Amino acid sequence: MGSIGVTVLGSGSKGNAILVHNDRSGLLVDAGFSLKETRKRMAQMGLCESLVKGILVTHEHVDHVCGLRVCANHFQVPIYASRLCADHLHIKDAKLRVNVIFTPGEEFAVAGFKILPFSVQHDAVEPVGYVLSTSSRRVGIAMDLGQFGQMAEYQLRSCDTLALESNHDLDLLAASNRPWRLKQRILGSHGHLSNVQSQELLSRTISNNTQNLLLVHISRECNTYELAEQGAREKLQDLGRGDVSLQAAKQDEALPTVWA
Ligand SMILES: [Zn+2]
Ligand SMILES: [Zn+2]
Repeated sequence: MGSIGVTVLGSGSKGNAILVHNDRSGLLVDAGFSLKETRKRMAQMGLCESLVKGILVTHEHVDHVCGLRVCANHFQVPIYASRLCADHLHIKDAKLRVNVIFTPGEEFAVAGFKILPFSVQHDAVEPVGYVLSTSSRRVGIAMDLGQFGQMAEYQLRSCDTLALESNHDLDLLAASNRPWRLKQRILGSHGHLSNVQSQELLSRTISNNTQNLLLVHISRECNTYELAEQGAREKLQDLGRGDVSLQAAKQDEALPTVWA
């Protein structure tokens, strides 16, 4: 009773969207695919469009917002973002209006969910991660962060389902032919979490409640789905939690819904 489903419609540097939902309502976290692609993937996963009651934005990078205005118009739902992120989105697209401005760290309620945005370190304008909860369930989402502080750790504890960035493998990043400037950006404190950092965040946030782990924002040039998954699986085993279900989110297709 009161279960929350998490459906990663797709994740990676070419687009991100995650639908967090129960059987009546849900919220999209980011709209980084076109409306057509978003609708197609929802339909493939058997998700009714009327579930969508709002869109929560993590940050303004194009892989998170490229379908934002069109999706919000189509679903006729409000957009939620932090103040500086909202200002930035409006500057980039004058037709885009963020309907609800929130303050990171302050909880609010939408469609039966409590939403807690929390600050993360990333090279974006006031970027956030989210915890979405009901009276009995918690879902934590941390995409696009260069490192995690106590804030992210604290907020992500006790989640039933965790979606954590596992962006790159250090060796594959080093071997890639990306320019040094870009490598520095990825590795920096405002870049992206490596597989090892992701596993560290997992070990600090896993709890008896944890049932599902989803690895998100996996780089296709500097990582592989298998590597990210294998590392996380070994970490779960080290932690004595081989029972946690684990999946790596894909760029080109949605993952089946996980429920907790
Ligand atoms: Zn991103
Ligand atoms: Zn980003």
